[in-house]
Amino acid sequence: MKVPVTAQLLDGKSLARTIRLELRDEIVEFIENNGEVPTLAAVLVGNDPASEVYVRNKVKACDEVGIHSRMFRLPADASQDDLLALVAKLNRAKDEPTHGILVQLPLPKQIDSTRILHAISPLKDVDGFHPENVGRLVQGAPRFIPCTPYGIQQLLVRNGIETAGRHVVVVGRSETVGKPMALLLMQRGAGADATVTVCHSKTHDLARLTRQADILIVAIGQPQFIKAEMVKPGAVVVDVGIHRTDAGLVGDVDFPTVSQVASRITPVPGGVGPLTVAMLLVNTLAAARAQQ
Ligand code: NDP
Repeated sequence: MKVPVTAQLLDGKSLARTIRLELRDEIVEFIENNGEVPTLAAVLVGNDPASEVYVRNKVKACDEVGIHSRMFRLPADASQDDLLALVAKLNRAKDEPTHGILVQLPLPKQIDSTRILHAISPLKDVDGFHPENVGRLVQGAPRFIPCTPYGIQQLLVRNGIETAGRHVVVVGRSETVGKPMALLLMQRGAGADATVTVCHSKTHDLARLTRQADILIVAIGQPQFIKAEMVKPGAVVVDVGIHRTDAGLVGDVDFPTVSQVASRITPVPGGVGPLTVAMLLVNTLAAARAQQ
C-alpha cells in the first residue's frame, strides 16, 4: 500500500541533473580555454559491493559531463605503502594530468584511512577531507567543501529554503557529513548564517532537540530512526542515511510517518545521494581551474 505524503519532496535527483547540465557547458569552456580535460582519479581498494556501485556511479557521472576519469584498483590485501605509493604518483602526475583524487572509503582494515587522506595533495583533494581543506572550511574560506554537505546546502539554497537565523539541528558528527555540514551552515553568508545544534550518540534526550529544528539534517547510519514525534510540524527534513533492506532502500528517517509532519523532505533514494556525486564533479572542475 502506498503511504500518503503531505510534505513536498526535495528532489535531489533532478537538481543533480541540472547541476550536471550547468557543468557540461563550463567544462567545454574550460577545455577550449586550457587545452586540457578536467581529470579525476578514482581509487578503489578491494571489492566491497557498495563501494563498487559508488565508484561506478561517480565514473559514469564524470563521463556524462565531460570529465575524464581514471580508475585505479588495488586488491583487498593491498598494504598501506602500496596505496601511499599510488597516491604519491597521482599527486605528481605530470605526463597525464590528474586534477582530482578520490580514494573511496571505507578502506580495508590494514590501511589507516587518515594517513591516506592526509597524503592526498590538498590541491587535488576533491572530497575536502585533507586537514588543510578542513581548516579552511573552519575559517570560512573553503577550497573544497565535502561533497555531501555541499550538495545539501545547494538543495536548500536552490529550493529557496532560508537558512539565515533558522535553527538547524544536525544529527551525526562524522568527519565526512555531520561535522562539515554544521561548519558550513554556521558560516557567514548566503546558504548559511544558521543557528546550528549538533547531536550525536551521547546526546541526552535527542527528541527534545530534534523537535526544535526548523531544518533537521540526519546522518546517523540507523535505518528509519527518526520518527514523526521527533520532528516539529512544518520542519524541513534532510535524510542522508542510506540502507539496503529487504523492502528496498531506506534512510535514517522513517519516511512514511515523518513525511506527514514535515513541510519538505528528501526521499531515499533520489535525495542527497545524487547531489553528493554532482558536487564531486563541481569540485573536480574547481580543482582543474585552480591548477591552471
Ligand atoms: P558515521 O557512522 O561515520 O557517523 C554516524 C554519526 O551518527 C556519529 O556521529 C554517531 O555518534 C551518530 N549516531 C549514531 N547513532 C546515533 C543515535 N542513535 N543518536 C544520535 N546520534 C547517533 O556515519 P556517516 O556520517 O558516514 O553516515 C551516516 C549515514 O549517511 C549512513 O547511513 C551512510 O551510509 C549515509 N551516507 C550517505 C551519503 C549520501 O551521499 N547519501 C554520503 C555519506 C554517508 P558518535 O559520534 O557519538 O558515534
